[in-house]
Amino acid sequence: MTDSPVTKGDDAREPRLVLGIDLGTTNSLAAIRAGSEARVLRNQQGEALIPSVVCYQPDGKTSVGSAAKALRLEHPDRTVSSIKRLIGKSFADAEPDVAKLPFAVVASERNLPRVAIGDDRHSPEEVSSLILREVRRTAELAVGRSLHEAVITVPAWFDDTERQATKDAAALAGLDCLRILNEPTAAALAYGIDGGKDGTVLVYDLGGGTFDVSVLRIQDGVFRVLSTAGDTHLGGDDFDALLAQRILATLPERARDSVNEDPYVLQAVNQAAESLKIRLSEAESAELELDLGDRGIAKVTVTRPEFEAAIAPLVQRTLDCVQRAIADAGVGLDAVGDIVLVGGSTRVPLVRSRLESFCGKPPHTHVDPDQAVALGAAIQADVLAGNDRSLLLLDVIPLSLGIETLGGAVQKLILRNSTIPTSVTEEFSTGVDGQTSVDLRIFQGERELAQNCRQLGNFQLAGIPPMPAGLPRIAVTFLVDADGVLRVTAREQRTEVQAGIQVSPSFGLTRDEVRRMMLESLEHAQDDFLAREAIEQRQKAEAMVRGTRQALELAELPPDQIYSVHKAVKALDRLLADNADAKALNAGCEELTKVTATIADDVISSAVTKALREEQENS
Ligand code: AMP
Repeated sequence: MTDSPVTKGDDAREPRLVLGIDLGTTNSLAAIRAGSEARVLRNQQGEALIPSVVCYQPDGKTSVGSAAKALRLEHPDRTVSSIKRLIGKSFADAEPDVAKLPFAVVASERNLPRVAIGDDRHSPEEVSSLILREVRRTAELAVGRSLHEAVITVPAWFDDTERQATKDAAALAGLDCLRILNEPTAAALAYGIDGGKDGTVLVYDLGGGTFDVSVLRIQDGVFRVLSTAGDTHLGGDDFDALLAQRILATLPERARDSVNEDPYVLQAVNQAAESLKIRLSEAESAELELDLGDRGIAKVTVTRPEFEAAIAPLVQRTLDCVQRAIADAGVGLDAVGDIVLVGGSTRVPLVRSRLESFCGKPPHTHVDPDQAVALGAAIQADVLAGNDRSLLLLDVIPLSLGIETLGGAVQKLILRNSTIPTSVTEEFSTGVDGQTSVDLRIFQGERELAQNCRQLGNFQLAGIPPMPAGLPRIAVTFLVDADGVLRVTAREQRTEVQAGIQVSPSFGLTRDEVRRMMLESLEHAQDDFLAREAIEQRQKAEAMVRGTRQALELAELPPDQIYSVHKAVKALDRLLADNADAKALNAGCEELTKVTATIADDVISSAVTKALREEQENS
């Protein structure tokens, strides 16, 4: 799983635009960074949030976003929402969520959840792709260009299948997902925490229906999720439900029961409750008068202290999760340098004040909490697009990793900027006849020669049975896990002898050191190229000398030919002994090739003639 190198777009005048997409449970939105500022993209009505809702209408039409949300009451069993709760899950894992959804979900033959609309079955990937298509369409209208690439965010706790399913949904929507990014990492980026400084960040994300808290460790420009906690069914909707109860309590009991049976009226009450809540984020008290026709008029005034008393137990539940996340991360609260807010419900003043007193420091509030994740995704997208070279890519290996090969060159197995986790295996062999052990030295850096790279460790693979040089097949595997720990193993394929080493964590480099090593590699690119060429040329010459001498012993050649080959081999050997440069060695190799080529032809043609003659004699 390595990233291909980032390439620039075809048209040099237009910067490559890669979308940052927050594909949310309730709402989705896209942002883009062109220039220094990231901005969210809005539709013609000025709305940035696209409801993550799809309605499969009875006439075969499909609506997405606000249009689908508006159809929810008319077609509750045909309107699909919260599909993010099902994506990448087995039916069994999705079942607790399925029970709470207003539309039907059935198990497929492979025990995967499928949304059932009449006789049609839709996979969560397919539904998500319709949402992504709408996000893409809105974005294209906003920027006036077609867009094909995106960075898409997912919760930090999404497993590989859930991440892959999200990528598949993007592909179905015609989007190449360059990176799946953790939502908390995106949020931290949006708040200007760009990995330039090591530290620990707490990301508190309280949305409409879900709560997530994550503890991130930033080290050497790499973001690592230390822990996550949360509640997949806790959010602003629960605050609304408490206020809706207050509203309903003002109605006569009979009217209250009939409201519960009428989805249209229930929706009106819930919307009124939400607007009360939002006003209470600014005002000390808020009034409401809701005309419910023949059911009466609901009239209520709620003060902020009353609202806060009602929601306090819910807020406390979020803090319990924060405490768990901190404990799981193995750090103390005092180690947390930054607190970052995500999700619309973090605008509730009690949420902010309780979090602040719990953590002992105020959270950052300078970014719109609804937009933070999309903005962060756009920043990462811009870096991946190659437009911003001042930032390191995140969750990636900062410098290439490789092993020293014969002659002091470094063979890189994992290239810089590969996403972690990643694993690469390459085959090597011995350089000397009868060699029974090899030393494997592991290096980090962009330079060609081991002496200019940084050695991370070394180990020996011993117990190889004596064989001619080049015959043992040694598979060397570099594996970097999600925590940035590198494991190197070497295994001789014929005999199964094996050895390995582990290097951890993050290879102890600061961001400045990474930059310095990168700069050096650029400065010395030409010298390094020549030095590597010389080493490779030398190895080729040595192999030719060795191989030709062996062939001479086996082949039966006329004395004059033996003499001319010997002469060429000796000349090349002398060049090697004199440490000749790559050009002279190359000429020596060419000379030897010329001499041996005619012999090879002679040997082959005489063998063919001999074989033909034998055949004729036998027939
Ligand atoms: P999200 O899922 O991040 O889009 O958050 C949506 C939730 O944030 C909904 O429950 C909204 O009612 C809530 N929300 C949005 N703005 C405010 C506000 N100013 N005060 C309180 N809650 C808000």
